[in-house]
Amino acid sequence: MPKLALITCSAPEIQKLRRARVLNFQQITMPYLAARVPTGWDVIHFDEETDAIDWDIQADVVGITFHTPSAPHAYAIADRFRARQVCVALGGPHVTLMPAEASAHADAIFIGEAEGVWEEFLTRFETRSFRRVYQRADVPSLEKIPMARRDLFHRRDGTSGALFATRGCPFQCDFCTVAVMYRRTPRRRPIDQVAAEYASFKGRVIIFWDDNIAGDLQYAKNLFRAIAPYRKWWSSQASIHAGHDEEFLELAARSGCKQLFLGLESISQASMTRARKGFNRVDEYARVIARIHSHGIAVQAGIVFGFDQDTPDIFKDTLDFLEAAGVQNATFNILTPFPGTPLYRQLETEGRILTRDWRKYNSRGDVVYQPKQMRADELLAGLRYANARFYSLPSIAKRLARSPVQIGWTLPLNLAYAFQWWNTTEKFPRGAHEHAPKSERHNERPIFNDLF
Ligand code: SF4
Repeated sequence: MPKLALITCSAPEIQKLRRARVLNFQQITMPYLAARVPTGWDVIHFDEETDAIDWDIQADVVGITFHTPSAPHAYAIADRFRARQVCVALGGPHVTLMPAEASAHADAIFIGEAEGVWEEFLTRFETRSFRRVYQRADVPSLEKIPMARRDLFHRRDGTSGALFATRGCPFQCDFCTVAVMYRRTPRRRPIDQVAAEYASFKGRVIIFWDDNIAGDLQYAKNLFRAIAPYRKWWSSQASIHAGHDEEFLELAARSGCKQLFLGLESISQASMTRARKGFNRVDEYARVIARIHSHGIAVQAGIVFGFDQDTPDIFKDTLDFLEAAGVQNATFNILTPFPGTPLYRQLETEGRILTRDWRKYNSRGDVVYQPKQMRADELLAGLRYANARFYSLPSIAKRLARSPVQIGWTLPLNLAYAFQWWNTTEKFPRGAHEHAPKSERHNERPIFNDLF
């Protein structure tokens, strides 16, 4: 029986960044791909977040999926298996963005979505007649996606399951890889199939890995009606459109939505407009968040620092806003121009890309382009300041007292983040203190550790 080893790749540097997160959800690409493997194959999955790769494994094919910051690590894995004459197939976001580069480390690469061509590759492998490059001419339909192989879910992430209902997003924000990955063609799985997979998870807490669950509001409402009877709790990413639609929020809440990861990105309207995300109306943020809260749904704000319109004031202003709005959780990132995006092309044209060392394209620990209105070290320090302040005890108290939505779990989660920083060895860096807004410096004690 041929043996297939699937690897969800995560470089040691990325694992280090992720360890600082209290939540680190199961990646679902490989469990879904495994469900499409033709019969007769023995499949094993290494998720590097939890598993060490067994280098002695007698695999016939190794399939590796990876994001940009794990690319050099993935190539090293691929090279090591290929040195043993093991056939290596590479896929995932970075391969789609940089196919020629990936091709040098693989026997076969998958550009874009693999459904359909993945099965063809494995079938042809048995007669050694596979191609080197697989790329569908069209985007695959999501009509008959088999349920993920949950025996290949390895992470202990506190949830009961993860799945997806939609793929892609109708919008084209200039920093986002989703439009490039999915050729600007959002698609939806049949609702009965999604509901059946959702219902099949034993426990209560479910993650929808959708790029934007609010990309098609009508579909989402019908989905929420279908999953409501199962009385589970769920969370997903959503664009701000979710917060403009009362019916969406009402049905989401009734179906068990406990938190939406909301792509706010920036409190600068100029930044949003330039990033082709002008539908994010900054002057409506507070109302939108209050509306989501009024349905009992917590908000995790996705925030990006480093847009060309950002000055060093952006850090304090953003934190002031998040605290005033009573936002329960936040993820802070540094703007990162992933290859293939309009943002990358713009910065490349302007000669502002500082490095093509993909390990640094991690959005948390490195700045890979020349920011316009601050130095790279100021941007990094501002990110650390934001995290340290957001998960400080005074900020937790202020935010959760303002909107005590879901406080039964948002308070422990916030405290867990705070506790984690107190107990890491890397102390709050000097740079962050020096570059924090002057009015804030007196509040900061060097007790808060770096996010990472
Ligand atoms: S709305 Fe979100 S998922 Fe859609 S293109 Fe913009 S950043 Fe990407």
